[in-house]
Amino acid sequence: MQRTLIKNISPLVGSEVLVQGWIDVRRDQGKMVFLDLRDYTGKIQGVVLPNHTEALDVAQKLRTEWVVEVTAQVNERPEKNIKADVVNGDVELEILSIQVLNEAETPAFDISTDGLEVGETVRMEYKYLDQRRARIQRNMRTRHRVIKYIRDYLDKESFTEVETPLLTNPTPEGARSYLVPSRIYPGSFYALPQSPQQYKQLLMVGGLEKYFQIARCMRDEDTRGDRQPEFTQLDIEMSFATKEEVRSLNESLLIALISSLFPEKRIQTVPFPVITYKESMEKYGNDRPDLREDKNDPNLLSFAWIVDFPFFEKTGEENLDGTGEWTFTHNPFSKAQDKYKEDLLKKENVGEIIAEQYDITLNGFEIGGGSIREHNADALRKVFEIMGYSDERIDGNFGHMLKALKSGCPPHGGIAWGLDRLLMILLNEPNIREVIAFPKTGEGKDLLMESPSPAPEKTLKELKISINK
Ligand code: ASP
Repeated sequence: MQRTLIKNISPLVGSEVLVQGWIDVRRDQGKMVFLDLRDYTGKIQGVVLPNHTEALDVAQKLRTEWVVEVTAQVNERPEKNIKADVVNGDVELEILSIQVLNEAETPAFDISTDGLEVGETVRMEYKYLDQRRARIQRNMRTRHRVIKYIRDYLDKESFTEVETPLLTNPTPEGARSYLVPSRIYPGSFYALPQSPQQYKQLLMVGGLEKYFQIARCMRDEDTRGDRQPEFTQLDIEMSFATKEEVRSLNESLLIALISSLFPEKRIQTVPFPVITYKESMEKYGNDRPDLREDKNDPNLLSFAWIVDFPFFEKTGEENLDGTGEWTFTHNPFSKAQDKYKEDLLKKENVGEIIAEQYDITLNGFEIGGGSIREHNADALRKVFEIMGYSDERIDGNFGHMLKALKSGCPPHGGIAWGLDRLLMILLNEPNIREVIAFPKTGEGKDLLMESPSPAPEKTLKELKISINK
């Protein structure tokens, strides 16, 4: 007999089915045993009646989370037992035989709840159990649907998804890069990308014109609240596009995505308001204002564009890329607005220079940011000079970009969304770890795989690395 998925059972009243899945709940009433079965499509109640003695013997040994295969007769529930508001509430399985496919130890925690009452460390340690709960299943499946929607939408808009390297050189996004030692070139390291920024710009030089990627980004940051060492961006870059065009594409995509996949949500203001950085700071005291008219409404979405950011800020302790007095606020590859071009070239009034930078915010969170890029090599060099980089360092680290800009680079710009954070808001989750299948702790630990972990002596030897304790 072929497997029947639980979601497909209810129209099969009167026939026999084979169901595979987990024991969700077991109620032993001595003479009969009630078993709720669960697969990835839903749950259904089953009962083992006294006359099926062999099945009853097995049923009495079963525990929750055991994996079973049952054959059963699909019956209508007696009128008084019908639960109209529950999937399969009108049918039940009369279980004829049970085969145990695998036993399970007693789960470390209850998976029938939303799990938010369970300690997060134990949920991370047993992530595969945590994933069985309905809320996490919903989150993983919704995440998939959102990503699929984005891919299909951008494909229709003639974008091409390109995978860019994970083993690369550092690209500055304001954090430290994770390093990967090279075995073949001892003493040399790859960096894991903080973003595909340089590659996506190089793809514009390469004539692709419309790029996107569901991109993993790795940033080695100190413990900071709701951050993960690796996270996912929707990364986009477009040639010959104005900032208005980049914004309008993203706005249309967000509106279409939300109305298709989250019809219960309401977007407060369309088109999204555009607010300058200065205005936002003056009016709201921050650059990611929460503009919702009703902050208690879980289905209200209030987007805004924040524009006209200062290009540079004074180097502080947190700014890792500035060796001089100044560092970039967002992205060194951004273009200065035209009226500040002279200042940039002369390296004057640095604090006044405004970048062609835009962020997108939602309900008080920054969910993305991007800019029109500098496609003139001399101007880009000035940016690095302003940050105090020596000629040697500029040519060493960014020579390839400067060279590429001089090889017929079209004007271009783009954006990246923090996909985890967007999903967190759309799913009304309290933090991004709830929408990531295998999240790490705030301290960067994977409690399931127990990483990071010391490398074996032999591996270190091959890499010619000795640990300085
Ligand atoms: N690369 C930038 C970031 O990761 C986004 C962009 O400017 O496109 O924030």
